[in-house]
Amino acid sequence: MDSITALLSGALEEVRPLAEGAPASYIPELAGVDPEALALAVVGPRGRVWSAGDADHEFTIQSMSKPFVLALALVEHGREAVMARVGAEPSGEPFNAISLEAGTGRPANPMINAGAIATTALVPGGSIAERTERIVDLFSRFAGRELRVDESVYASESATGDRNRALAHLLRSYDVIEAPVDLAVESYFRQCSVLVTVRDLAEMAATLAFGGFNPTTRERVVDEHIARDVLSLMASCGMYDFSGEWLLRVGLPAKSGVSGGLLAVAPSQFGVAAFSPRLDGHGNSVRAVAVVEKLAERLGMHLLEPHESVAVPAVSVHSGETGPVVRLSGELGFAGTERVFAVLRELATGLPEGSTVTLDAREIGRMHPAALVALQTEFEGLPLGFRLEQ
Ligand code: GLU
Repeated sequence: MDSITALLSGALEEVRPLAEGAPASYIPELAGVDPEALALAVVGPRGRVWSAGDADHEFTIQSMSKPFVLALALVEHGREAVMARVGAEPSGEPFNAISLEAGTGRPANPMINAGAIATTALVPGGSIAERTERIVDLFSRFAGRELRVDESVYASESATGDRNRALAHLLRSYDVIEAPVDLAVESYFRQCSVLVTVRDLAEMAATLAFGGFNPTTRERVVDEHIARDVLSLMASCGMYDFSGEWLLRVGLPAKSGVSGGLLAVAPSQFGVAAFSPRLDGHGNSVRAVAVVEKLAERLGMHLLEPHESVAVPAVSVHSGETGPVVRLSGELGFAGTERVFAVLRELATGLPEGSTVTLDAREIGRMHPAALVALQTEFEGLPLGFRLEQ
């Protein structure tokens, strides 16, 4: 067993004895699941998959569909049009709360049911089938395999979905949704009933982690700015009324669902997903929360702790026709420029005044604007001529 799989298995076995909570029962089909099922998967930058437990066990995606339908709405309509209909504020209330802005009727955010129904209503298509097809197609590209709806969970959701239907009527009364209620709500029930495994979810999370690029299929699924918007909302609102505490303890954008699944994103590092049906009082899976928290802690993934090394470039010095060439590759962030300056200063001491140094940044994958400003400032302070090749 490789070290990563051993780490995942170890963490999973530690949470296995946790017996608190109960599977969701408000949708009859969800109550029938095996409460002991337990799984964990990670997908890394080159699309490698590591997993432990029941990694091929299928369950419905439920609320974990919400970030991906948000992505679809953003692709179709742009951020301003979407935000005109749904806010970006954590509601601090349960997933099915009627958290609508006074006056406008705008739901607090797209990660609670009201906001998700408003987002689903923005998916183009004249029929439930057409809308569902667009949604499932996008999910499938995120997951790297063809996904499908579990018809019996869908039927069960629809048969017991009066609260969601009521929310949709309310939204329509405020003109937050224009689509007929049935079209919006049935498409929403179908999106919640898509079957996934933790591997699928981890790949979907990884696609968000790499800015909308699926590292397994190597397909660009959505643009980087879309993935960034989705992750921002997952970070602030993804874990129901536990979102603030989750950010404090784990520090990763995440989304949970009442089936017991949870996906979390370590930007530029990996996607992770866990599954265990027993839920706590917030509607989050007890063991999935515990295992992802352990993993994030052990791997040092909290986003708000220092991660300077991710933006330090590789630096090499060559001789060129007009003088030394400093070649950079990788990613250059504000803090990473210190490494470049150290090389430049050392070069400057050995060169006659007035010499020209070329900074070849053509191999830089990403230069942060702050790094460019820092470089310019440093150039101005050195007694050398500079050429920047970008
Ligand atoms: N289908 C569920 C509902 O709207 C999704 C809820 C969830 O996972 O939070 O009731």
